[in-house]
Amino acid sequence: MSVIAIVGGQWGDEGKGKVIDLLAEKARVVARFSGGDNAGHTVINPYGEFRLHLVPSGIFYPQVTCIISNGVVINPAVLLEEIDDLHNHGVDTSRLFISARAHLIMPYHTILDGLEEDRRNKGALGTTRRGIGPVFADKVARLGIRAGDLLDRDIFWGRLSAALEFKNIILTKVYQVSPLSAEEIYGQYCHYGEQLAPFIRETSSIIREAATKGELVLLEGAQGALLDPDFGTYPYVTSSSTLAGASCIGTCLGPRESDRVVGIFKAYNTRVGAGPMPTELKDEIGDLIREKAREYGATTGRPRRCGWFDAVAGRFSVQINGLSDIALTHLDIYDGFSSIKICTAYKFNDEVLTSFPSDIAILEKCQPIYEELDGWQESISGIRNFDKLPAAARNYMSRLEDLLSCPISLVSIGPDRRQIISVKELFS
Ligand code: GDP
Repeated sequence: MSVIAIVGGQWGDEGKGKVIDLLAEKARVVARFSGGDNAGHTVINPYGEFRLHLVPSGIFYPQVTCIISNGVVINPAVLLEEIDDLHNHGVDTSRLFISARAHLIMPYHTILDGLEEDRRNKGALGTTRRGIGPVFADKVARLGIRAGDLLDRDIFWGRLSAALEFKNIILTKVYQVSPLSAEEIYGQYCHYGEQLAPFIRETSSIIREAATKGELVLLEGAQGALLDPDFGTYPYVTSSSTLAGASCIGTCLGPRESDRVVGIFKAYNTRVGAGPMPTELKDEIGDLIREKAREYGATTGRPRRCGWFDAVAGRFSVQINGLSDIALTHLDIYDGFSSIKICTAYKFNDEVLTSFPSDIAILEKCQPIYEELDGWQESISGIRNFDKLPAAARNYMSRLEDLLSCPISLVSIGPDRRQIISVKELFS
């Protein structure tokens, strides 16, 4: 078996939850390595329909140990609610562990996220206002509070009071709002700490042990490549790395330890929030995709912007992640389309660009250059064999493989766990 990193190839919401839920059947460990509860994975399986924000998507299998790793930031209230919801649906969470190194979202992070978005006004980034940006900023500013701190009340009080002294200056002097009470936050978080204590531990040894034994370890990403703070559409990006490289730092493994890197791509593109998206369709085709695929955010309910597949961005994503495989999802959404377009290059002034620009000022002015392929009329959701897919669907996949220079190993043709076709063997 092997270590497989699974990452979003586009702007997030590609269907990572569904693919991980499927692959986890053979896994020993599933470790989420980045982001916070701004990400939401939808999983539909025999237990019901779940929107997981923090708990890894392997939680539904009794043999899987699930880890919320050091690269993730945790809002304890959200996590406790999610654990409760899983219990209520009969899901066992005794194999869930939280890295003692994971940073905690504190009340001032959420408040500051909202105040900063309001201050940006028309230039708002479209954050989920859940405190994710501010908590990652505190992590590198060495002001953060980590899950392990909750296990020692003296340490926790010392770190909280030091951080809050500074945060209250920002709240009162910069934003002119009321200060927060250290005692109140302390009481609330000690209560969370008591409930979370059985889950908090040093987790890297669990991952390392499974990897050393050759058991299947899945490293679960959040959001997508084009939201990465270094390589995404900066500043319209998220605040922790979404790339496969982060799966090492965000867990404990070294760069040589992943055997495969699977990028999840939708058959079209979506984006939530602000920022450039060259293939966005603000017409009835975009609306049709949104309604057919229920493209509304799992975490925020916000309608997602929809458009044709952008192979310029897709190729870039394959490169910056070092993808070995692609899992293509939502191919069924194109059922009944007479033709399907793929963006193969951008027109920028008089130039034709085939690589993804680093500057959004350029990307915002790029016009997509499309190639048009035949669509198919039949429903493909019930098909379980690649050879039975309509020739036009196979042709579409083959053209994407050429344009992206990466094989498609899985194709998903509906939201259900069974609606997936294995095209090439993923496990060595
Ligand atoms: P994630 O964050 O990448 O896991 O993605 P989301 O959960 O935000 O969105 C994916 C949505 O698409 C969920 O509602 C899934 O149930 C659904 N889904 C996943 N794969 C497919 C597919 O192949 N076809 C269709 N129609 N829906 C899918």
